[in-house]
Amino acid sequence: MTLRVGVIGAGMIGQEHTRRLTTVVTGAEVVAITDLTADRAERLAAETGARAYASGAELIAGPDVDAVLVTSWGPTHAEYVLAAIAAGKPVFCEKPLATAAADCLRILEAEIAHGGRLVQVGFMRRYDAAYRRLKELVDADGIGTPLMVHCAHRNPTVPVSYTSEMAMLDTAVHEVDVLRWLLGEEIVSAQVLTPRPTGRRFEHLQDPQIMLFATSGGVRIDVEVFVNCQYGYDIRCEIVGETGAARLPDPARPAVRHDGRESTAIVSDWRDRFGDAFDTEIQAWVDAAAAGTATGPTAWDGYAATAVADATVEALKTQEIVAVDMEARPAFYTGAPQ
Ligand code: NAP
Repeated sequence: MTLRVGVIGAGMIGQEHTRRLTTVVTGAEVVAITDLTADRAERLAAETGARAYASGAELIAGPDVDAVLVTSWGPTHAEYVLAAIAAGKPVFCEKPLATAAADCLRILEAEIAHGGRLVQVGFMRRYDAAYRRLKELVDADGIGTPLMVHCAHRNPTVPVSYTSEMAMLDTAVHEVDVLRWLLGEEIVSAQVLTPRPTGRRFEHLQDPQIMLFATSGGVRIDVEVFVNCQYGYDIRCEIVGETGAARLPDPARPAVRHDGRESTAIVSDWRDRFGDAFDTEIQAWVDAAAAGTATGPTAWDGYAATAVADATVEALKTQEIVAVDMEARPAFYTGAPQ
């Protein structure tokens, strides 16, 4: 069976996922596209042979749409995910699942009432081969019980529209999800340290930031977010356990010897670093959606990320240690992370 996908949001990542579904992934075709800007949807629809719809609601109700991929702005995600669940259709939602924790909880309730998984949240790092090897090692007790994690998330630069809160909401949110998954523990508190800001920033921006998290089991995590580091896109993660330490490897790039020096290129952006992970992620979604279900990051994971993000944004504002306000995890979402 070919999964007939409807895409809501034909912006940057919507176009990328549409290309991925059309040319990389097997078992799917894009049959419907909508966007707030009708022209943009029509252009992408014409390129892919899909039909442009006037609204997300109409697209979700479309009889030829088997599954929905949500790539519109974050604040619109909850409405579309809830509508897809109401229609009984599998839905892939780019992060965030919702910008308000209360909306995430409504999604959890709706999915539980449906009685089976329909939602996958777009935390693609779980599909990255290097992170997967790190998780296998931790799960196999290769470094003993984890005690501390040191991370860095560096971007060469960001546009002027980037705000200090986005360091958590758009950037460190990926660390939050992947660390919950790697450690199998919830994050229970957040603190944000604000070092001397780089002179190459915009006036409004606190950059870099150091986020400190504690997990339910007492693991301490530090995440350096530095989004104007100038030199490249650099993702680091080292887990220190009772008997050893394990570090995420740098992406494999040839070591070049030239002109009396040896050098290795540093990747320039997130597409370059996580392109393969996105391909694997969307293939996994298609395979599960074709069977009427979902695997991978759950709606609970989306909720947990939003709850941690809320605490971190509060911590940045107050400069205090803020406890994460999180409900108890419903039995529906227990079990080994996938
Ligand atoms: P973008 O380029 O601004 O695209 C968003 C598109 O959605 C725009 O075309 C926008 O239309 C449209 N849109 C907004 N509200 C809509 C609505 N109610 N119904 C239908 N279309 C609507 O943004 P983006 O960078 O692609 O990001 C989209 C989402 O993906 C965000 O949630 C972002 O966090 C996430 N994302 C995730 C990753 C990742 O690493 N997993 C990477 C990038 C983005 P107009 O511009 O005409 O208003």
